[in-house]
Amino acid sequence: MGEVPSIKNAYLIVEHARIKEYGTMRDLQPHEISKVIDCADTVILPGYVDSHSHAVFAHTREAEFKDLIKGLTYEEVAARGGGILNSAATLASKSEDSLYEEAIARVMKLVYMGTTTLEIKSGYGLSLEAELKMLQVIARLKQAFSEHGNDTLLTKGATLTITATFLGAHAVPKEYKDNRDAYIELIVNEMIPQVAAANLADFIDVFCEANYFTVGEMLRVIEAGKAHGLRAKLHVNQFNSIGAIPIAVKAGALSVDHLEVMNAADFAALSGAATIATALPSCSFFLGIPYAPVNKMISDNIAVALASDYNPGSCPSGNMNFVFALACVQMKMTPEAALNALTVNAAHALGLQNEVGSITVGKQANLLLFKGIDNLALIPYSFGEMMVSRVMVQGVFIN
Ligand SMILES: [Zn+2]
Repeated sequence: MGEVPSIKNAYLIVEHARIKEYGTMRDLQPHEISKVIDCADTVILPGYVDSHSHAVFAHTREAEFKDLIKGLTYEEVAARGGGILNSAATLASKSEDSLYEEAIARVMKLVYMGTTTLEIKSGYGLSLEAELKMLQVIARLKQAFSEHGNDTLLTKGATLTITATFLGAHAVPKEYKDNRDAYIELIVNEMIPQVAAANLADFIDVFCEANYFTVGEMLRVIEAGKAHGLRAKLHVNQFNSIGAIPIAVKAGALSVDHLEVMNAADFAALSGAATIATALPSCSFFLGIPYAPVNKMISDNIAVALASDYNPGSCPSGNMNFVFALACVQMKMTPEAALNALTVNAAHALGLQNEVGSITVGKQANLLLFKGIDNLALIPYSFGEMMVSRVMVQGVFIN
């Protein structure tokens, strides 16, 4: 993870939204080129792959933010009726159209900051109807950002790969507090079959944590998802290690995300596994909780990815440049390891490693241009500054 191969004085040819060819200028053969872009004094990197976000939501939660400032913990805020259940209550009363309009503007903001592939979760519905509504919004976003999208005014022609994750098991709804099993039954017997039948999700997720879902409940949900072709990407070990990781790895989870609290058995289970360990440092920053021990993971032969966790409660920023900075400043990752975690490893965390995540012939031409810099470290070093000059998604510059 510590290596980022690079070419100085390079050319790069894009054709039909994909990377066709690259190399050093002196090896450039005559080509018929329709448009030439001078990238002197510019570093070009692959676009960020955000493999964990909750970018569809009804309202921001700054009232809870003020409670956090006063010293309440996230768990205390949730216990007072805030948290995920708060978002679920506000989402239920919002129309699909306004959820969609707000989400599309939010996603465009992320693209300008360099996100060129995005995962979005449901999980603020917590009923069959509202979960389907959220997933429908994500499906409309996929369509709007697809080649055949018709919202080009809003999306500026950006053809962004978006993946959808069904997170019905995000929190136990109030009405099921004393009958948790009934909610699991609802997820397993009704939600998953309907979500899968309508082709509304690529992945399945569970928030496995004290006061949310147990390891046993997580396993039931991911097995049911697997039976319907949905691979698992899971919220685990944010506040406590309750044994989710060894079970998740055994069940073939694509990724385990959060990982702020890790014990020896968790490291051992992930070491050498195909499951990607995804750290979410912006969430740690916002809540003031520990950062995932990524360097210990890397030395234990665990593949680490970084994502935003963009959501209205515990991380109201989807800026991957800030994730990059936190990874280096707070988690002490090298800039090279952090870049790999933000791009190619994150692509693996979405099963899209043959499509996105690196400057590779045949992959999507998702490129970030950083003008006026000559080395990678300057990007995380300049934390809080907008270092990305231009963004290309699938061969189209959006700015
Ligand atoms: Zn999350």
